[in-house]
Amino acid sequence: MANQDFLNEINKRRTFAIISHPDAGKTTITEKVLLFGQALQKAGTVKGKKSGQHAKSDWMEMEKDRGISITTSVMQFPYRDCLVNLLDTPGHEDFSEDTYRTLTAVDSCLMVIDTAKGVEDRTIKLMEVTRLRDTPIITFMNKMDRDTRDPMEVMDEVEEVLKIKCAPITWPIGMGKEFKGVYNILDDETILYQSGQGHTIQEKRVIKGLNNPELDAAIGNYADDLREELELVVGASHEFDHEAFLKGELTPVFFGTALGNFGVDHMLDGLTKWAPTPLPRTTDVRDVAATEEKFSGFVFKIQANMDPKHRDRIAFMRIVSGKYSKGMKMRQVRIGKDVKIADAVTFMAGDRANVEEAFAGDIIGLHNHGSIQIGDTFTAGEDMKFTGIPNFAPELFRRIRLRDPLKAKQLQKGLIQLSEEGAVQVFRPFNSNDMIVGAVGVLQFEVVVQRLKTEYNVDAIYEPISVATARWCTCDNPRTLEQFEKKAYDNLALDGGDNLTYIAPTMVNLSLAQERHPDIEFHRTREH
Ligand code: GDP
Repeated sequence: MANQDFLNEINKRRTFAIISHPDAGKTTITEKVLLFGQALQKAGTVKGKKSGQHAKSDWMEMEKDRGISITTSVMQFPYRDCLVNLLDTPGHEDFSEDTYRTLTAVDSCLMVIDTAKGVEDRTIKLMEVTRLRDTPIITFMNKMDRDTRDPMEVMDEVEEVLKIKCAPITWPIGMGKEFKGVYNILDDETILYQSGQGHTIQEKRVIKGLNNPELDAAIGNYADDLREELELVVGASHEFDHEAFLKGELTPVFFGTALGNFGVDHMLDGLTKWAPTPLPRTTDVRDVAATEEKFSGFVFKIQANMDPKHRDRIAFMRIVSGKYSKGMKMRQVRIGKDVKIADAVTFMAGDRANVEEAFAGDIIGLHNHGSIQIGDTFTAGEDMKFTGIPNFAPELFRRIRLRDPLKAKQLQKGLIQLSEEGAVQVFRPFNSNDMIVGAVGVLQFEVVVQRLKTEYNVDAIYEPISVATARWCTCDNPRTLEQFEKKAYDNLALDGGDNLTYIAPTMVNLSLAQERHPDIEFHRTREH
């Protein structure tokens, strides 16, 4: 492949994920995005919501046969001149640390807000994670076909709560039954909305110019209201600034309705035009640019097979630089071994045959029989390790107990392996023989008990425990650390990787401990 072709392949990639609170419309937007990407003939088949089952389609059969539903984990599709990778961020019961870690594998995020509700909890948490890399954020204000809150007020809330400047690109005209469409501030044109066409790509009527009398003819009094409101909006908000967007300081804002498939294409236009091409990543040795010819990548998620008949797992790798070709050799740096990868899974929607190559920015799935861990780096032979693929402090805790006390060794082994894989975190307090399991999402607890049973033959149950949060503790001065270990003994534990952890029964307790031990650093994330 000529060098220019190689660069073109990389520069046309856009890799993003959606951050939102449950029910804001992530699934609906994903369906419409795929419809525009022409990955699915007809939108509405990403998942059958009611049953929670994945809908049937040819390209899902392979995963179904394997018993792993990896299909919706990554979706790749063409849009305009770009090749877009959309990474799924599990959000409902399946919310987990994987959701957080997926955000370390993308180059930009789409934030979806239910305009009737405004900024919600989960979005706040996910935005905190995007701050670790100052990821550029595009905003979609959804559900304009409903009676929403005042758009200006919701935009102010985004600025205040999420600490990011808003630059409206489109502005809504009316709402609910009276939703007329949006005015594009940059292009000076109005795009009119027609209800009841959400399942198709619509031919939309566009009226050029804000002062065009056609606009008055089309939407009546709303035209004058819009002209007045826009003066206010433009005065009170920010102008779009590409540099500020790329630094994560400013977000372009689009309005629309995912259900009515209106506005999703405006957002996609913005994404392909403004979102970064595959970004460089940092290793312990040097920075790696996407356009380097030598292959490199890191594992950010491992998906286990819940079907006991199939033990294999898929490790999801973000390609950081170069190109994957079928059958190539890669070095798994942590264990210093060169492995030949002949059967990586790629995610070109609708085109399952195309598994021959993948480029920086893409995600590939490696079959994993237990030798791959979260955070593992793969290279073309260079010994370096990507940083910035952390563990996140769990928010939910339970004590785990054995039904058969003789199996304590297996339990410990199983839990430590599962924690290395990123399925859950485990903490062993200094002052007891307890094992505390910590997770970010509730489903992780169930997954762990089930896997302990099928993979380690251990029967375990949970008991409630009053723990509010955990923090990893470090200190440059070994003597201070030693004193801290004595003083805070009753709250300290080791995690699955033997790292010192403070287990706080309440948030107040944590604050007090931080005040009492100013020389100790309390971390919310920990590098693998
Ligand atoms: P998710 O939980 O974020 O994936 O949200 P879904 O896409 O499943 O949407 C949650 C609910 O909101 C579903 O009943 C959708 O049909 C509905 N919904 C999504 N987008 C819109 C919209 O633009 N307008 C209206 N009225 N409903 C919507």
